[in-house]
Amino acid sequence: MKITHKLLKLLCMAAIFNINAQDKSYLDKKKPIEERINILMKQMTLEEKVGQMNQYNGFWDVTGPAPTGGSAEEKYKNIKKGLVGSMLSVRGVKEVKAVQKIAVEETRLGVPLIIGFDVIHGYKTLSPIPLAESSSWDMKAIEKSAEVAASEAAATGINWTFGPMMDISRDARWGRVMEGAGEDPYLGAQVAVARVKGFQGDNTFRSPLRIAATAKHFAAYGFVDAGLEYSASEVNRNILYNQVLPPFKAAVDTGIRSVMTSFNTIDGIPATANQMLLRETLKNKWGFNGFVVSDWASIREMIYWGYSPDEKSAAKSAVDAGTDMDMEGGIFVPHLVSLVQNGQVKESLVDDAVRRILRVKFELGLFDDPYRFLDEKREKEVIGNKANREAVLDMAKKSIVLLKNEKQLLPLKKEGQKILLLGDLAASKNSPLGSWRIASDNNTAVSVLEGMQKYKGNSLKYEKGIALTQEEPTFLTEVQYNTTNREGLEAAKQAAKDADVIVMVLGEHGFSSGEARSRTQIDLPGLQQEFLEEIYKINPNIVLVLNNGRPLAISWAAEHIPAIVEAWQLGTETGNAVAQVLFGDYNPSGKLTMSFPRNVGQIPIYYNHYSTGRFTNKDGNVFWSHYSDVDKTPLYPFGYGLSYSKFEYSAPKVNKKTFAKGEKVEVTVTVKNTGIYAGKEVVQLYVKDDFASVVRPIKELKGFEMVALQPNESKTLTFSLGEKELGFYNQDGKFVVEPGTFKIMIGGNSADVQELTIELL
Ligand code: BGC
Repeated sequence: MKITHKLLKLLCMAAIFNINAQDKSYLDKKKPIEERINILMKQMTLEEKVGQMNQYNGFWDVTGPAPTGGSAEEKYKNIKKGLVGSMLSVRGVKEVKAVQKIAVEETRLGVPLIIGFDVIHGYKTLSPIPLAESSSWDMKAIEKSAEVAASEAAATGINWTFGPMMDISRDARWGRVMEGAGEDPYLGAQVAVARVKGFQGDNTFRSPLRIAATAKHFAAYGFVDAGLEYSASEVNRNILYNQVLPPFKAAVDTGIRSVMTSFNTIDGIPATANQMLLRETLKNKWGFNGFVVSDWASIREMIYWGYSPDEKSAAKSAVDAGTDMDMEGGIFVPHLVSLVQNGQVKESLVDDAVRRILRVKFELGLFDDPYRFLDEKREKEVIGNKANREAVLDMAKKSIVLLKNEKQLLPLKKEGQKILLLGDLAASKNSPLGSWRIASDNNTAVSVLEGMQKYKGNSLKYEKGIALTQEEPTFLTEVQYNTTNREGLEAAKQAAKDADVIVMVLGEHGFSSGEARSRTQIDLPGLQQEFLEEIYKINPNIVLVLNNGRPLAISWAAEHIPAIVEAWQLGTETGNAVAQVLFGDYNPSGKLTMSFPRNVGQIPIYYNHYSTGRFTNKDGNVFWSHYSDVDKTPLYPFGYGLSYSKFEYSAPKVNKKTFAKGEKVEVTVTVKNTGIYAGKEVVQLYVKDDFASVVRPIKELKGFEMVALQPNESKTLTFSLGEKELGFYNQDGKFVVEPGTFKIMIGGNSADVQELTIELL
């Protein structure tokens, strides 16, 4: 045989891979990926194919009960047999190399593992929690934040993240709202796209610092009953098509490489076995060509739902529906081969699943160099570097929302003001890191205390006051708030007498939100409300800085406390970001992406609700849509957020009042900064379809733009409206635009808008 240059190269590659296959040309980079997949798949046994559909958890990070129960030795053994396609939560160049080497060098075909991990808001260097980031409405910053997260994860050998989470949610009781972008599907879709771009870059994965992303959780997990974790989400078609699916569709259109199923049922069918969602909508209608991974053991859990009588049947339902990979469920390997051999599952479905998984592995370059993500030098250079810290600081500042500012308490004065800082959370270096931060180190946030000391040095007084929790919680433990110990209150009260301004940092611990952290009360937990009121009695000049992973019900504070800053959990640079905002070096520009209720009983509360036949009490009697005990509006609406500046809006104008299908309408508005600080305003455009074949919400966000203005400066913004902005999904899931009148509303938040009417002929 003539040894050509090409053949020689292939032989060398094959030697690295130690491959036993007859036709090794799937290693040939020059061949198109689909051809390489064909060549490889022709040589795979059914067992090896099923192996690709199996994902094991690694050996240390557990994010759920571990049904495979597999010991490390057992898992290693199965990798060697070619029965594992992916590992999750193996991290660090050394560790990843150890498992990858087995897959590549010791299995018959040398198919590399794809290594997954929950990179939710950073890897080591942490960005704000995702809900906070969404409050920036700044897509460039959000993309950058995901890029930083991707780079650090990739540098430790990870090539696939289980994010972004794009579950729309209207329920602050659900702990996982901290992982999402809030209640609105339009904004949610934009944020999803920004994050996918940040993780995946241009989708070529030429850079070893970009990783494959996952759209999760498909679908409707954000609508779990009563915010109760892991419960059912029996949403209707209208909500599914118009609220839940748009961010997923946008992510698929951006080229996202994987989708994760959700734990919940929809219409009585678990999402992991949902043909309508996975096979019909995602794969067939949307043309998604990446792969679908189950959530952690969600295939197995279909048994406990009372849907699948046994493991075999769970495996069949999942594969039939289009779930391609089993995350830590241990269901496919023992059952799928016989299911295919007995004709109960079509081999073509297994082939389709494997083809999808291999496609992403090829795209990631893992067949060209299975160790391309594994470079210890790069690992050292990238993790926690200065540029990453700067990017997350920028993101953190932009995520802060100013909720109230009376008596001009803010910004604080850098000189000549006696400032007292109060609260356990003010000194915490752990809680501000937020939930879902498996790879980062504890106690690595800049605390608010440290951030403010940079401005005030030792002249800043600090008292802890009443302790927040009984002990420091972890990712795996329940947060136990302190409800009995008032030690520290007296000292705080004494100090309060002498202060010009008191900054109180109160709210939730960082581990109070995230997965498995549903709560039925969402006011200030523990003894903090009492703490706040006690201090207020002594000195009402309080700036309340909130730390939380969900909207909180803070009606008392909203009424009494003169200044309130929503500072979420802002990650590694928390204290610096908060201090820069408090002292006016950054003028807050964030706007809420979830409505804040007056009390928990208003939940679910969201701005884009329907009208009712009895919207107002124009007859003056009680028979109208309201609560007897509390105003039905939110405490702080979607889109709300103040600045140290003031912005004035002109009346919006349109270039035509009537228009035909296919035409665009231009809406213009002029915004002026009438304050004394330079600032940024997020100008929001909402639409209402006045009459439609399906009742439409009273308003829906359909555009926004952030405008930066110097004092006295004004700018005119133009929004273009077409069918995309005016249409909706009908009951058959078809996108329609119906003629008639539409209200166009523009303003600085969803409850404060100016409107005009246009007509589609
Ligand atoms: C969560 C997923 C996560 C997975 C792996 C599950 O419990 O629902 O969002 O990606 O664990 O950690």
